[in-house]
Amino acid sequence: MRVGLDVGGTKTDAVALDAHDSLVARIRLPTQPGAAGVLETIRTALRGLTDQCTAGDVRSIGIGMPGQVDPGGSVVRHAVNLGLQDLDLRELLERVTAVPVSVENDVKAAALGAYALRGGVDEALGYLNLGTGVAAGAVLNGELWRGSAGVAGEIGHLSIDPTGPLCACGQRGCIEAYAGGGAVARRWGRPGAGAVHEVFDAAEAGDRWAQRMRGEIAWAVASAVRVLTLSLDVSTVVLGGGVAALGGRLLDPVAEVLEQEATASHFLASLRLADRVETLPAGSLAAAFGAALVGQRPH
Ligand SMILES: [Zn+2]
Repeated sequence: MRVGLDVGGTKTDAVALDAHDSLVARIRLPTQPGAAGVLETIRTALRGLTDQCTAGDVRSIGIGMPGQVDPGGSVVRHAVNLGLQDLDLRELLERVTAVPVSVENDVKAAALGAYALRGGVDEALGYLNLGTGVAAGAVLNGELWRGSAGVAGEIGHLSIDPTGPLCACGQRGCIEAYAGGGAVARRWGRPGAGAVHEVFDAAEAGDRWAQRMRGEIAWAVASAVRVLTLSLDVSTVVLGGGVAALGGRLLDPVAEVLEQEATASHFLASLRLADRVETLPAGSLAAAFGAALVGQRPH
């Protein structure tokens, strides 16, 4: 069987796939921080999966990590939320498991998972992760697009308003500064992972400031959809991450912005951007699933 893990800042999802890429086991557990903690979390997850199923030996392990991963699929350069820096996770894990290991950025792994969960039918698929930050992944002709140094898809730091709010990266008006959960929480004045949901609740209850923020979130997400489509001609943009769990409550205002922009441009209208956007189902294991697929592919 092939194992995939999505190591998040607070929790880790792990799945095991059989030879037909069907899910045969899954487990979720809290992530322990630091290099030793992450290793222990992964080993505990592996034990949990092998206890659950009889699909044979583990043939490969793929790991999605929230941070910058070297294109070689081995070294995690920075994973701030986990307290990791320059960790050769592949070498460490291969030493203790004797199984081939591949490490990938979690958003890129989720992009591959979203592609596979849609049946592998998209010639060009974009995945937009809306979590604490905003980043995208793309699967082109069945392969993840990584770029020369793994930076491909970091469109959260594309500025859409040079006079907009300051972003953590130092620029102003980044997509992430409007639609990232961390930035929304700061502007909303209430820290925590649920800030975007609170903003949407308040907007629906008639709060004017929340309605304005909801409009900006939708505009920023719509901008990301436009960028992905214009740069890569993706036929589908899948929205994932905690914010995407809003489902139709997010999709509707995003589609409204895209349709509004299309009324002013025959070109944009011809691209039918609103029709290309969908959300991952709530509780989707796309990132862990994609990590398992990364593990079986040559890097
Ligand atoms: Zn930025």
